[in-house]
Amino acid sequence: MNKVISKLKGKKILVTAGPTREYLDPVRYLSNESSGKMGYAIAEVLHGSGAQIILISGPVNICSDLPSEIVFPVTSASQMFEVCKSNFENVEGAIFCAAVADYAPKHQRCKKIKKEDNEISFQFVKNPDIAFEFSKFKTSSQKSIGFALETDDLLHNARQKLVKKRFDFIVLNSSLYPGEGFGCDTNKISILKTDGSLKTYPLKQKKEVAYDIVKEFSKLF
Ligand code: C5P
Repeated sequence: MNKVISKLKGKKILVTAGPTREYLDPVRYLSNESSGKMGYAIAEVLHGSGAQIILISGPVNICSDLPSEIVFPVTSASQMFEVCKSNFENVEGAIFCAAVADYAPKHQRCKKIKKEDNEISFQFVKNPDIAFEFSKFKTSSQKSIGFALETDDLLHNARQKLVKKRFDFIVLNSSLYPGEGFGCDTNKISILKTDGSLKTYPLKQKKEVAYDIVKEFSKLF
């Protein structure tokens, strides 16, 4: 094992992965294309380093070798937030990789919506921002990193998230080019640090990308 990532041995690290689903009625939901592959790959590298991980995962279709007792499956953003919140105080680090839905329907219908009207409207309310909530509690010994996936103004938006969510660094991926971002087995990332430095990596398999990210993360300790 690499000397740098072996620093994580025994450290308690929370990882969020995958999408969330915000149900409109019992059979329909609002979600996104996140496959969870990046988050699981990170969790696997962390687990291999000997870190004690807690993986809070939205609905994914991944066969993982991770022990089931460290994986906490959730569906909605509020559920993901509740499980994360109960672990905020105990963790030494957090990697927020989940593509959490920004909004949820204000009212979830208990019966399937019928196609009676020509138009239909819903009211949506903002979901808790898990990484931002963590940043309010975060002590100087707790480290956290996040992701920014954008279709435009990637660097500008990533800088804002880095500051607002008090991340120790943020991983940028644009999803504009083939092989990047949601669903793919490969990813092309850049890491933006709080000192303003930006390191861009070549397109790699998500497992290798996970290793690069965990290596940088371990340097924070
Ligand atoms: O959605 P957004 O682009 O703001 O996501 C940036 C980072 O914040 C990601 O690391 C994501 O996992 C995290 N996040 C979160 N809770 C949310 C929205 C985003 O933890 N409700």
